[in-house]
Amino acid sequence: VSCAKGTRDRLRVGVMGGTFDPIHHGHLVAASEVASVFKLDEVIFVPTGQPWQKSKGQVSAAEHRYLMTVIATAANPQFTVSRVDIDRPGLTYTIDTLRDLRRMRPEADLFFITGADAMAQIMSWKDNEELWDLAHFVGVTRPGHVLDDRGRTDVSLLEVPAMAISSSDCRQRVAEHNPVWYLVPDGVVQYIAKYGLYVQPVTDAGAGI
Ligand code: ATP
Ligand code: MG
Repeated sequence: VSCAKGTRDRLRVGVMGGTFDPIHHGHLVAASEVASVFKLDEVIFVPTGQPWQKSKGQVSAAEHRYLMTVIATAANPQFTVSRVDIDRPGLTYTIDTLRDLRRMRPEADLFFITGADAMAQIMSWKDNEELWDLAHFVGVTRPGHVLDDRGRTDVSLLEVPAMAISSSDCRQRVAEHNPVWYLVPDGVVQYIAKYGLYVQPVTDAGAGI
């Protein structure tokens, strides 16, 4: 973390995985803050294919989620978007994401960024020992969730500006004709309206992961 940018031989690349249904300012602030504190050269946003934790039909088409992520990140030269998860058939597992990115970016050290809720989930997975070798994990604070490294020394915890925003809440707001301006980037507000996303009422609000 201490060595200055440009004087080191390996790139430092953040990986921000998510359903991004839709991407919101909580995701963007988390990525930006980790990039700054950990002196990352790049953060790759990776929209999931069908997430194994979420049932089918509950999640918007991958192409919509991918395009909203591109729109939201386009202006930041450090932010990129990968199709690696949406182009892989079947359910998305984080281990596959990290294996693929390691293969595609052998010159980089990976920093996997997760909010407190996702961090707790990862900690609870069985058979996840390989995960910790593929990337350094950075858990970030998220309002309403407790951030805990469970004593692991190879995990970093970082407090980021508190954004009490979730994609579930954004979807519900759209369904109820409430505004999502300033919760998601302007281009994403317009994209949601253009394609009529989330107009159906959310049947299982709060079931989002
Ligand atoms: P949903 O409500 O559909 O589950 P979400 O808002 O949790 O959506 P995800 O795409 O599930 O968004 O989250 C992707 C990653 O971003 C996860 O690691 C999650 O913990 C993190 N994250 C999401 N929102 C925030 C936030 N407001 N602050 C910090 N981290 C966040
Ligand atoms: Mg979630």
